[in-house]
This record gives sequence, structure tokens and C-alpha cells, in this order.
Amino acid sequence: MKKTAILVSLFAIVILGGLFYIGWQRRGVNVSGQGVAVAASFYPWAEFARQVGGDLVRVTTVVPAGSEPHDYEPMPQEMAAVYDADIFIYNGSGIDPWAERVAPDLRQKGVRVINMSDTVSLLSAPTVTGQPSEGQYDPHFWLDPVLVAKQIGVIRDALAAVDPAQAAVYGAQTDAYAAQLAALDREYRSGLQSCALREIVTSHAAFGYLARRYNLSVINIAGLSPEEEPSARTLSDIAQLARQKNIKYIFFETLVSPKLAQTVAAEIGAQTLVFNPLEGLTDAERQAGDSYISIMRDNLQNLRMALECQ
Ligand SMILES: [Zn+2]
Repeated sequence: MKKTAILVSLFAIVILGGLFYIGWQRRGVNVSGQGVAVAASFYPWAEFARQVGGDLVRVTTVVPAGSEPHDYEPMPQEMAAVYDADIFIYNGSGIDPWAERVAPDLRQKGVRVINMSDTVSLLSAPTVTGQPSEGQYDPHFWLDPVLVAKQIGVIRDALAAVDPAQAAVYGAQTDAYAAQLAALDREYRSGLQSCALREIVTSHAAFGYLARRYNLSVINIAGLSPEEEPSARTLSDIAQLARQKNIKYIFFETLVSPKLAQTVAAEIGAQTLVFNPLEGLTDAERQAGDSYISIMRDNLQNLRMALECQ
């Protein structure tokens, strides 16, 4: 009798253990409540992973707030987060060369690696006045909301592969964000429909994909950066260009110092405007609740002003 009781207990333990194990398997990586670990090389990919993954993912951004990805070299602890991730997303096309270097090793160690440059048809590297262009392809494709709406499907599929039990949730969250991107695209289309000008002059050659999408053309001027005083030669070249093209505004990637803005305005008779290429959010932008969508709306307002749109 005692023996039977022990056997029944053992049997129950085995069955319960088996059921628990199956339940754990079904719920996959989210059983710990920590979510799928996603590492993204810089801001837009982290933001898109958060939108697709919601509460089910933990997202780390390698390039920190306030830094820009061009030429960034991650610290050892930032690389450790990449190696600990279930999924690593990088941009490719030369903007995050460190990621391209480690991708084969990450794949070998079982990290699911997504090179976003493999998911779009790339534009050639932009031409910049007075300087040879860097690299072969233009990496700034996240600035076209129509491309992004397709690319978030790649993130959704990777999350569903790692965490199949939540595939439907990832699908719904992707559809919801794609709807927001479609609304943004409609705002750009109607906002840039009737404008006096179609030419943008900028200090950061980041407009390529956006310009192609909305039928604009771009003049990329080298030698203008928010930190540096432009040379007299640069200023006179821009002044000539501005007169020829009837350009009244020049885009800088971040807020320029008032002194530089005044210098440029005085020398060439043009004003400066901000175009935020969304390569990273500052702490202030984060605290203000800014996001890819809200900053793209700000960019549209400034484009409409520069191009004299109705
Ligand atoms: Zn850039």
C-alpha cells in the first residue's frame, strides 16, 4: 500500500514536471518575464524593434543617446550586450562598420543577425560638392517611411522565429505601427505636393531616400558641420549656389550654434533650418517624448517652410 502511494506520487511528479516543461517551451523565451533581448546598432532600429515587440522585448541601443553612429566605435560593455542578445539589428552600408565586422562571429554564436541593407534596394552613395563620396551606398534608408513599413516585417518575422508563441502579438503590433507610418507618408505626400521649390540644400547627405520618395532633389554641401566654422571658400560657394537656385534655407542636421547661423545668414543671405536625420535622440528629446514619427513630422514642417509649400 505504501509502495503504491510512493509510485503514484512519483508518477504525478513526472507528469506535472512534463506539463510544466511543455508550458515553458510553449511560452518560449518570455517565460522568465524578461522578454526577447534585442540589440540595435542605433536609434531608428531600436525604436522600430520596440514598436514591433512592445512589452515582449527588451531593447538595447548600442550607440548611446546624443552620439551619432557615423564612425562610432562601441565600448566592450556595449559589445557584450550585442553578444547577449537573441536578435541583433544593424543598418549596414557603411554607417555601422563595427557591426558588419562582428556579424559573422555573432551568427556563429547563435545570435540572429539582421542586416537591414539586405532588405531594401540601395541607392548609390550621395555626391557631395567638393569631396569624394564615402562608401558605395547611401545608408539613410530609415528616413523613407514607406521603406520602413516594409522593413518592420523583417523584425516581426525574426521575433516570431525566436518567440513563436507570441507571433500573433508581433503581427498585430507591426500592423498598428505600419498604419502610423502610412499616415506619416500621406502627410508627406500632401504636405509636399504644391511647393515653389523642389531643391534642398543640406550639410548632411542624409536626404537621398526621402528625396526619391517625394520627388525632391538634394545638394549636399561638404564643409558645413554644427561644430565647425565654415571656411570663407565654403561660404562663398554656398552664397553663389543660393543666388543661382533662389535658396533661402539651408538644412543642418542639428541645431547649429546661433553664431554659425548668423555667420551663414549674413554671408549668403540664407537662413538655417534643422533636419533631424534620426541617427540618435538626445536625452532632452527622449524626455520630451519625441520619437521617429514626431521628429519626422517636425522635419516635414521645416521642409515645407524651405520649399515654400502651400
Ligand atoms: Zn548620416
